[in-house]
Amino acid sequence: MDSTCFPPKQTPRWSVRFLSALAVMLAIAGRAQGTSQRTRGELPAFRAFLSELWPLAEAQGVSRETFRVLEDVSIDPDVILRSNKQPEFSQPIWRYIASSVTSSAVERGRIQAKLNQVWLAKAQATYGVDEGVILGVWGLESDFGLAQGDHDIIRSLATLAFAHHRGDFSRNELLSALLIIEEGHARRKDMRGSWAGAFGHTQFIPSSYALYATDFDGDQRRDVWNSIADAIGSTANFLAVHDWIRDLPWGFEVVLPPDFHLRNEDSSELVSFGAFSNRGVRRADGAPLPGSGRGHLLMPAGLNGPIFITTPNFDVIKTYNASSSYALAVCLLGDEIAYGTVLIAHWPINDVPLDELKVKKLQTRLEKLGYDVGQIDGRIGDALRAAVRDYQEKRGLTPDGYPNLSLFKMIEVER
Ligand code: CA
Repeated sequence: MDSTCFPPKQTPRWSVRFLSALAVMLAIAGRAQGTSQRTRGELPAFRAFLSELWPLAEAQGVSRETFRVLEDVSIDPDVILRSNKQPEFSQPIWRYIASSVTSSAVERGRIQAKLNQVWLAKAQATYGVDEGVILGVWGLESDFGLAQGDHDIIRSLATLAFAHHRGDFSRNELLSALLIIEEGHARRKDMRGSWAGAFGHTQFIPSSYALYATDFDGDQRRDVWNSIADAIGSTANFLAVHDWIRDLPWGFEVVLPPDFHLRNEDSSELVSFGAFSNRGVRRADGAPLPGSGRGHLLMPAGLNGPIFITTPNFDVIKTYNASSSYALAVCLLGDEIAYGTVLIAHWPINDVPLDELKVKKLQTRLEKLGYDVGQIDGRIGDALRAAVRDYQEKRGLTPDGYPNLSLFKMIEVER
């Protein structure tokens, strides 16, 4: 997962097509020349863009000396190509979950859970964050430290800031990254991580590092790259500051009784566990629902796939990465590592998923019919699911929010 704490894609001022073409040209030029010197000389606009950042950097406390690290930075064509892909949205959720929650990841997670029990327990005691969730984030973000990324993140962020020019996000992250060097938390050569500028065991972006990184092992350094303790403490702190509710589970798989009358509010509003219980909802493993707490139904593959009650803590995980598929993968991986929990219901793997073009058509059509689908981006996200539920409810259908082929065909001909 490369997109930690990374907001939904921004609309770049520089045309993506132009930049992609540029990226390919630069890659070819770079190979031909065998040096980045040539690339640098070809793009004075990039150099000028970086120079113009000086007043902003200075205002944040970056010294001239630290700012000079930008003098050696060149555009990274790979970063531009990758920034146009976000895999968690472009495949059915069960494929994404299957590729994230693997038996080998569970095995590696269990070994790490044992080795780092003291820090996981400390995180639980200090922040009330469940160890499964921390392990899930750690596994998804860096495969327990094995895949922290080897991109030069100063170069990545400079490239993204340039490509997404006046979208301030990457520019601010670049400035935060310079501050990390300025303040001596990391040396220039150690600033390595993902193509998107995230780094360390749980892939913090520079601004998250500044706000949430914690010295958990007490060596006076906030080292999320090398100290697993610091990474665990920092992740728990990040979740706690984003309103994690102590000792509340993220949620659990449930089964609905056969006569359950599904309403749109079941998915859109928080409902008490007691009220769900009264309507016959049970945990899938047969246990009763907890005595207190509230949540809502999540049906990522409709009524024919696994169904969950998720609590507000599930939404806190989404502050790490906004996708529900991501958050669910974190929770399922963590639960299996920490508690041996596996899904009881099966994903409807024989369903033919709507391809990107069909999803776009569906979004366009629903928007024309007056539904709020968010961005028309060809992805099945929370906004589209909510729009589908609204549509289903208005048509007297079961509002499970799952856009399958028959629903697509129905909406296609709707007037
Ligand atoms: Ca430390």
